[in-house]
Amino acid sequence: MVLDLRQLFGGDDRSLPLDAEFDLSDIEFSGAFPIKTPVRITGEILSKTGIVSLSAVLSVQYEADCDRCGTPTVKHYRFPVEKTLVTELANGEENDEMLVLEDMKLDLYELVLTEVVLAMPTKHLCREDCRGVCATCGKNLNEGDCDCREAVGDPRLAVLKQLLKDGE
Ligand SMILES: [Zn+2]
Ligand SMILES: [Zn+2]
Repeated sequence: MVLDLRQLFGGDDRSLPLDAEFDLSDIEFSGAFPIKTPVRITGEILSKTGIVSLSAVLSVQYEADCDRCGTPTVKHYRFPVEKTLVTELANGEENDEMLVLEDMKLDLYELVLTEVVLAMPTKHLCREDCRGVCATCGKNLNEGDCDCREAVGDPRLAVLKQLLKDGE
């Protein structure tokens, strides 16, 4: 979706409301395709006293397995996008908030994609303190301790277990 912003760069104060959805389901993150539902951008592009700026909020639903325990986990993210739109850069003026438009056109999809890629956390956990799975038996430790731990922690118990096993 390419927006022609010529009118906003005309000098008059104007605003252009933004409300659009983009399909990012084909974008890969860490070997998966976690953005299964469309990403929504809402906000506005504002021209005021000769300065054109974009002020919006992105909503993203991220669905993937927890990095530690593998439980399917859905997370919702909402984050702001604030940009000053310029048609050219004055020397040394460049910064992250500035977006240089070619031909006064804004590729909204490209902007959304860039912002989402930058904003998504590199770790995807079902919860902050996820305990992961036991390396020995594979049990999800969020659901409780497994027997391996006790056995390692208490040698007498390990012996007892072995005895019970032998008796089977
Ligand atoms: Zn987890
Ligand atoms: Zn275990």
